Amino acid sequence: MGTNVRRKTIVANWKMHTSTAEAAQLANGIVKGLSPEERVSVILCPPFPYLALVGELLRNTQIQLGAQNMYPANDGAFTGEVSPTMLLDLGCKYVILGHSERRHVLGESDEFINNKVRFALAAGLDVILCVGETLDQRNSKQTEVVIDHQLNSGLANVAEAELLRISVAYEPVWAIGNAEHHATPQQAAEAHAMLRTRFAQIFGKSAAGALTIQYGGSVVPADAAAVLSQPGVDGALIGGASLKAEDFLSILGAAVGCFRNDFESGSYS
Ligand code: PEP
Repeated sequence: MGTNVRRKTIVANWKMHTSTAEAAQLANGIVKGLSPEERVSVILCPPFPYLALVGELLRNTQIQLGAQNMYPANDGAFTGEVSPTMLLDLGCKYVILGHSERRHVLGESDEFINNKVRFALAAGLDVILCVGETLDQRNSKQTEVVIDHQLNSGLANVAEAELLRISVAYEPVWAIGNAEHHATPQQAAEAHAMLRTRFAQIFGKSAAGALTIQYGGSVVPADAAAVLSQPGVDGALIGGASLKAEDFLSILGAAVGCFRNDFESGSYS
């Protein structure tokens, strides 16, 4: 068996969904349905207004709390923004950065995302860095160049000591929230292999071997096992299917099964 057995990590990105009552019901449903011994890391990322509520419901469980965004300053005159200090105060351990909706809808630049990555790490939050190409970029064979650039720029000037606190989510923009256009498991595996190779070139083989790379793009219970069993796919970032406890729990079940298979076959190294 290899020495670098990476746990599967499943992240729920609730985006701008749920109400107070729905957030509580969803978090409770996931807490109740999850068996405590499962060797899968689970992170819930509710909208900012429900972080405290969900954090309270996750207390003393194996599930971690994450945020969907943050601003790179501890405090100050930044109307409408939320600082890493506030997120830590609310019990967050993780923050999602570089999500395609923030890059493409909110216009965040690579430089700004890199600022956030470095600030989050320095403040004590672990980072889930999202990268992914648009459909036009894929069709014009730019996938490798685009994700390479996003990885490189997102992690510029990150210290080696902090690499273990970073995971990468490969999220092809054309597959996000798109029931028609899923990446095939092979496309996901290819992109993950590309990202790990590039990460090894930048930070070394051992850091790349330890890196968790999640796949995101309309993963649903029916295809979770197929994508999660691909070599180098260490988990998933789930949007739509994380809004129903039953669906999310079913994806977690698939992740547990894949982790066991990998672990027992010794193929995960
Ligand atoms: C996402 O936005 O991170 C995501 C993966 O969404 P969905 O699962 O809905 O495609």
